[in-house]
Amino acid sequence: MVETYPAWICCDCGEQCGSRIPKLATYHEGECGWCGAEGVPVTEPRDFGYPPAPGLPVTRVPSSPPPSTNGGGG
Ligand SMILES: [Zn+2]
Repeated sequence: MVETYPAWICCDCGEQCGSRIPKLATYHEGECGWCGAEGVPVTEPRDFGYPPAPGLPVTRVPSSPPPSTNGGGG
């Protein structure tokens, strides 16, 4: 299965999702594949270190199970 990786990302999403901030990136007006904004300056996600594509399941740490009271028994 091939995930569709957006071709363009806006500055805001890049700074939020990206792993690096480009010192100089070439922006042009387009549609952001992350937030869906149109007519905003977008650039290649490569400039932000290829942030994870939107819609992908976010890796979360599983919440600890509730403390089970084991009273008595036996
Ligand atoms: Zn965006």
